[in-house]
Amino acid sequence: MNETIPIVLVTGSTRGIGAAIATALRQRGAMVIGHGRTAGPDTIGADLGDPGAAHALWDAALAQAGGRIDVLINNAGLFADNPITASDFAWLDAWEESLRINLTAAAQLSRLAVRHWQAGARGGRIVHIASRAAHRGDSPDHWHYAAAKGGMVALHKTLARSYAHQGILSYAVSPGFVATDMAADYLAANDPAALAAQIPLGRVASPEEIARIAAFCALDAPASMTGAVIDANGASHVR
Ligand code: NAD
Repeated sequence: MNETIPIVLVTGSTRGIGAAIATALRQRGAMVIGHGRTAGPDTIGADLGDPGAAHALWDAALAQAGGRIDVLINNAGLFADNPITASDFAWLDAWEESLRINLTAAAQLSRLAVRHWQAGARGGRIVHIASRAAHRGDSPDHWHYAAAKGGMVALHKTLARSYAHQGILSYAVSPGFVATDMAADYLAANDPAALAAQIPLGRVASPEEIARIAAFCALDAPASMTGAVIDANGASHVR
């Protein structure tokens, strides 16, 4: 295996932002290990709603990569309504599913990546696809999503502060609305002109724009940027 080719595990690479990230990285010559909820021709299947799935994914990715992963991109995510009028059971179930997929699985994979890099000499990078919701909050039906993404940003900062001295770097991207299937229902249900008026840029982001930022973090960002959170929301939430 060529030691100079970066090997990148991208979770949720079957569509949307993850697919755009995989394309951008491949165009740069990286070897991409793809992942989706179910297995596909270019993807390892692992349902991150299952507590054991992150470990199985990491092991399968390492085997596919020949024993070395340089970059982990925590991109897989779930954005589902959870109205407070749901039954206690249904509300708690949806809360826990969101936290597991959007936060816990990312933490499990990050832990395995950190331990992998600590056992070697090359260091590594983690890129987290967080959300504007981490900083601004979300809608009444999405407490869980905002809480999970806020947790992801706190996880990211902790990783950056804890392991920079070992060459293990962490970057986070916080997109606003992005034109993918995840946002489609909301975008379709809202007046495009009213939505655009909330975004000074006048439009939602494309998956390719977020992919450019993620590829920069994965391959190019200077080490001194570790711990940074990069906003990509058309100035709809300027911090
Ligand atoms: P998407 O729904 O198009 O794709 C989500 C990906 O996550 C898919 O590949 C899917 O297979 C994977 N995934 C979902 N549930 C899974 C599970 N249980 N197990 C394994 N994989 C699972 O969404 P997207 O818009 O491309 O979102 C990608 C990331 O960007 C997510 O983390 C999302 O929260 C974040 N984000 C999206 C937007 C947006 O407006 N689209 C905004 C901010 C942040």
